[in-house]
Amino acid sequence: MATSSAAASAPASGRPALVIASGNAGKVREFGHLLAELELQIRPQPEGLEVKETGDTFAENARLKASAVARASGCWALADDSGLSVSALGGAPGVHSARYAPSDPERIARLLRELDGAGDRSARFTAALAVADPSGTIRLEVEGVCPGVILRDARGTGGFGYDPVFFVPEAGLTYAEMDKGLKGRIGHRGQAFALLAPQLRALLGS
Ligand code: IMP
Repeated sequence: MATSSAAASAPASGRPALVIASGNAGKVREFGHLLAELELQIRPQPEGLEVKETGDTFAENARLKASAVARASGCWALADDSGLSVSALGGAPGVHSARYAPSDPERIARLLRELDGAGDRSARFTAALAVADPSGTIRLEVEGVCPGVILRDARGTGGFGYDPVFFVPEAGLTYAEMDKGLKGRIGHRGQAFALLAPQLRALLGS
């Protein structure tokens, strides 16, 4: 376990700095909302930094990203590796969710094509979160899951990624129809964050 402390990376304001280890605008927006309750100075990851997601699991990729970004920035870093696992597709696209097709509309189109004629449209979103200290050592890890169903047609205009076709029966809405508060409470990222927040607060004194 590394001995680095939040004070080591605390900016002049006294608030510990935390880098969001992601270049995904949708994720960064959601973390901005979730982290608002903590007394932290949120920073973007260093420009041009690309971390290869070579892991076989969400947790492994989250660790890789948090560690690399913490070392590159010299700050605490929070990474999220997340994705959609569809039962009828044997868990695909899973850790390859971002690489399933070149753009969000193409990813959705491919998913709907692959599910054409499938009886079982159940799926789940997973978010693995990892926090690394400035030396790159992983200090916290959590995972959140949200079960749902893939619709035949898109619904809603909010969110990002697969949100318009991911329907959550518990809410009677797709992710894209939810406001950020509701997705933040019942969504995979929000559930993971609820587990992380008290530990992060204790660790960073925020
Ligand atoms: P990665 O974690 O950077 O590998 O990317 C995860 C990919 O999964 C994103 O690019 C999206 O396509 C998808 N994804 C992750 N979280 C969400 C979400 O909350 N809504 C919709 N799509 C998501």
